Amino acid sequence: MTSKQNNLKILFSTSEAHPLIKTGGLADVAGALPAALLNLGCDVRVVLPAYGDILKKQPSMEAVAEMYLPGVPGMVTLYATCLGDSPVEVLLVDHPSAFAREGNPYLDGDGEVWPDNAERFALFSKVVQRIALDQAQLDWKPDVVHCNDWQTALVPALLRQQPLAPPSLFTIHNLAYQGLFPQSTFNALSLPAALWSPDALEFHGQLSFIKGGLVFADCINTVSAQYANEIQTPEMGYGLEGLLQFRKNVLSGIVNGIDDSVWNPKTDALICQNYTSRTLSKKKANKTALQKRYKLPVEEDVFMLGFIGRLVEQKGIDLIIEFLKTIENQAMQFCLLGSGDKKFEAALLRLAGENPKQLGVTIGYDEVIAHQIEAGVDAFLMPSRFEPCGLNQLYSLRYGTIPIVHNVGGLADTVIDVTDESIANSTATGFVFDQPTVTSLGEAINRAQKRYRKPRTWHKLVRNGMNMDYSWHKSAQEYLKLYQFLQQEREAQKSIQTIKLLKE
Ligand code: ADP
Repeated sequence: MTSKQNNLKILFSTSEAHPLIKTGGLADVAGALPAALLNLGCDVRVVLPAYGDILKKQPSMEAVAEMYLPGVPGMVTLYATCLGDSPVEVLLVDHPSAFAREGNPYLDGDGEVWPDNAERFALFSKVVQRIALDQAQLDWKPDVVHCNDWQTALVPALLRQQPLAPPSLFTIHNLAYQGLFPQSTFNALSLPAALWSPDALEFHGQLSFIKGGLVFADCINTVSAQYANEIQTPEMGYGLEGLLQFRKNVLSGIVNGIDDSVWNPKTDALICQNYTSRTLSKKKANKTALQKRYKLPVEEDVFMLGFIGRLVEQKGIDLIIEFLKTIENQAMQFCLLGSGDKKFEAALLRLAGENPKQLGVTIGYDEVIAHQIEAGVDAFLMPSRFEPCGLNQLYSLRYGTIPIVHNVGGLADTVIDVTDESIANSTATGFVFDQPTVTSLGEAINRAQKRYRKPRTWHKLVRNGMNMDYSWHKSAQEYLKLYQFLQQEREAQKSIQTIKLLKE
């Protein structure tokens, strides 16, 4: 059933949600999926820590509940607000000593993880548990609790301790981040002692937050089908592949969607010229604007490549750096927006200094430039070594910018390689390469550049991509099916228990 009448109550717990706070793809998902679920009739509430940056932006909010948690000094306050312009209700968990600091939710100003992250997200998870059990003075009990990544992975473990708790779904947005801490942290968090076991939160002598989700959630999903398979292998399972294989009957993949109100070249207010697949010639004005912004020579015919993202090995930024050393004197430009590992930032700035006519580099985080790159470049590079879903290739498809991607995870699931056959049957949308090497990346870029020089074929590719449906509506329906499955299972369990009690 996917009608408006489903009435399911969903508590969506997350450590970031656009537009309130964002460091990466999780925020995009948490900012859009709840609204899509609301459209399907769900009563969905998002719960999020009240970070200092959020409180600054939302000075007047209504406090809807207050609570004390055992072992936690001071009171926790819940504030209610909305998710941007959408009517989705957000509960902000305010505990000033844990969250009221400025900057990144996970890192301090020097890029180091906050030393008390375990305490902060354990506290958050305990509050989510309270809400889930209707013990937060809200008079609202969810049918399903949807948890995301390690920061909320303790929630399924805590819920499992309570007989009347709702079922949970745990979504893995990136298995590389697991929330690993020493055993002493487990002791300090006042968690149920039984959770210290290899069958629970212990992972080779350490406390693993993510195992809370992997072991105890009633269902698990990742953000693409391919990644759901990959994490069951030793190469990409981080030692958790055995557990994931064990749970494979409840493990699925649901690809992320695009928030049409944020990423749509027809209406995007952050780009210089709006366009659609029918008015493609207008896209060029965005290329010119981008070349000016990046102080690159304004040339219409130069093949312009882009990259946006975290400058870390996962994203294959080292491969891009090696490739950029080879492009001198080619009719090619490249512009980048990102921040991360200092050694990659320095290497990119150095290269841009040496080759200012072809390379433009902005180190930092900037929503406006991100939109302008998607609209302005001809092709977008994503040589990620692994990629649970990836959003920029979806945005690229939407903006008529051809993705050039490594054949992994969500990239493999969402981009269809250009071959004579896929061009003929109008399915080709991008260039896919098989090895995470600079040679393989370079070959794919060469293939793309050759096609770029044949405008008719290129425009066909562009239109194929722009016409793909990566709306959240489709993916939200998949999530709804999972929630309904969980609720039905829970109802069935309750009936069995009632029959047993009656027989006794
Ligand atoms: P991940 O979550 O692994 O970082 P995703 O591709 O899933 O990667 O999502 C990244 C999101 O963050 C995209 O919306 C991307 O545009 C955005 N993003 C990443 N880095 C920056 C940046 N420096 N400035 C603006 N947006 C960024």
